Amino acid sequence: MGFELGGKNIWVAGHRGMAGSAIMRRLRQEHCNIQTVDRSEIDLRNQLAVDGWMKTNKPQVIFLAAAKVGGILANSSYPADFLYDNLMIETNIIHGAWANGVEKLIFLGSTCIYPKETPQPIPESALLTGPLEPTNEWYAIAKIAGIKLCQAYRKQHGCDFIAAQPTNLYGPGDNYNLATSHVLPALMRKAHEAKKAKSRDLSVWGSGKPLREFLHVDDLADAVVHLTKNYSGEEHVNVGTGHEISIRGLAELLCRVVGFDGELVFDATKPDGTLRKLCDISKLKSLGWDNARGLEDGVASTYRAVAETL
Ligand code: GDP
Repeated sequence: MGFELGGKNIWVAGHRGMAGSAIMRRLRQEHCNIQTVDRSEIDLRNQLAVDGWMKTNKPQVIFLAAAKVGGILANSSYPADFLYDNLMIETNIIHGAWANGVEKLIFLGSTCIYPKETPQPIPESALLTGPLEPTNEWYAIAKIAGIKLCQAYRKQHGCDFIAAQPTNLYGPGDNYNLATSHVLPALMRKAHEAKKAKSRDLSVWGSGKPLREFLHVDDLADAVVHLTKNYSGEEHVNVGTGHEISIRGLAELLCRVVGFDGELVFDATKPDGTLRKLCDISKLKSLGWDNARGLEDGVASTYRAVAETL
């Protein structure tokens, strides 16, 4: 028998974020009591406030998806904020979870926790085997500390705290701002606008050759609920699809989904970044989850959901 969620108080920390709101949607199938707290009510960086809220509300399970997030520019402009805010949020919640007898906690990491140079597909064991990508190391160090906190509280106090490591996410609630977004929402928006404006071409940054893996955020939510029920190990677990696509292939797919039939123009003045970033998901599969939807289906449903807002 796995860990039971039904009937429990479950706190989704970070419920307004892309991952947190998908976890909220998924938990509605579990007949549990979902708890949330707004930023205006408590500052998660404040230990007394977090502890006080937990004493009053008595969560039994925590999905820890709260984090200060941002792209490359935000990370390099506000390194202190990215390190301090994220360390404080996860320390307060994980320590509070131990102090208040929380039965299960799942912490969400990020792909940037792995070293810049690493074998592909990236196994969980690659953590802390080499230097990080310097542009987002502040965020990465905080996320690694979160994984280590789960391990430390398990070792010292026997807490059933686990960590999941999602690959690049897409779906509803994503950032569609062209200046700060990731490639999938950016190209969806560009294709949508190019179609509306009847443009002849669409600009794709870099060479189009880098390979990336993309996971629908509702699949992430399903996988983390599965892990919460079925996993109690010390090591974090990669969550991805196990499939990769080139940026050119992705741009072509988005044009198909959106219905834009112009030319792709590759902008060599923009960086390619890492050439490949694929998670090894054999551990997740061995734990019984391999339900990721196909990319074209996931992108099409996302486009239907967000097209009016683009
Ligand atoms: P990364 O996965 O952390 O490297 O971040 P991104 O999702 O921002 O970029 C992934 C790849 O997509 C890089 O090679 C980008 O150059 C490429 N790319 C192509 N067009 C775009 C675009 O319009 N916006 C972004 N953000 N990336 C793009």
